[in-house]
Amino acid sequence: MIGVTENLRKIRDLLAEAAAEAGRSPADVHLLAVSKKQPLEKIVAAADAGQCDFGENIVQEGIDKITKLAERALRWHFIGHLQSNKTRAVAEHFDWVHSVDKLKTARRLSEQRPESLGDLNVCIQVNIDEEDSKSGVPPADVAELASAVAALPRLRLRGLMCLPAIHDTFEEQRVPFARTRELAESLARDGLAMDTLSMGMSDDYRAAILEGATIVRIGTAVFGPRAT
Ligand SMILES: *Cc1c(COP(=O)(O)O)cnc(C)c1O
Repeated sequence: MIGVTENLRKIRDLLAEAAAEAGRSPADVHLLAVSKKQPLEKIVAAADAGQCDFGENIVQEGIDKITKLAERALRWHFIGHLQSNKTRAVAEHFDWVHSVDKLKTARRLSEQRPESLGDLNVCIQVNIDEEDSKSGVPPADVAELASAVAALPRLRLRGLMCLPAIHDTFEEQRVPFARTRELAESLARDGLAMDTLSMGMSDDYRAAILEGATIVRIGTAVFGPRAT
């Protein structure tokens, strides 16, 4: 899988460049390789090239891959919409959930997380552009949900995730990322310490990194087009 190895090398360079441009350390920007609908052999190739973090958005598909690659020390991130009847499977297999947007879901993850696995890392998904078509909690409700989630056992609130509307220009792309960062800063002032901003994808990672992204989620640029 020369393709995946080379793609990863290129993307890591681009992320480091964007970090430098933003006056940030490249070590503070982590690549989450979004492996949804990608075959196992490509994930193995990425893992062989040193990639540790993988993102999946369908529970069963993710668990199949996690199970098959169990002997490797990989971290699995659930990034899709999470229905409350699927929380147990996620709590028992994944390391991170980026898409918490309801207290009910968080409570179930907390109750269902096996103690032996350690805390489940969670981010709250913010519907930063307040689009009807997107999941996520409206910005005005983030503080209340975040403090409730932070109080739950076996969950570790790491930060905020956003999936903004598509904006064409760099300056427009920055706006929702800046607002997400400001939200996190205001939570920090209220005493909720978090270390993660999960934001930026293939087409807008530069703007996200400039506004403080610590995890960028990139799929097709790593693995090529997804199976349909
Ligand atoms: C699919 C997906 C990505 C990655 O998208 P690409 O266009 O393949 O880079 C990032 N974040 C989320 C939440 C996704 O569902």
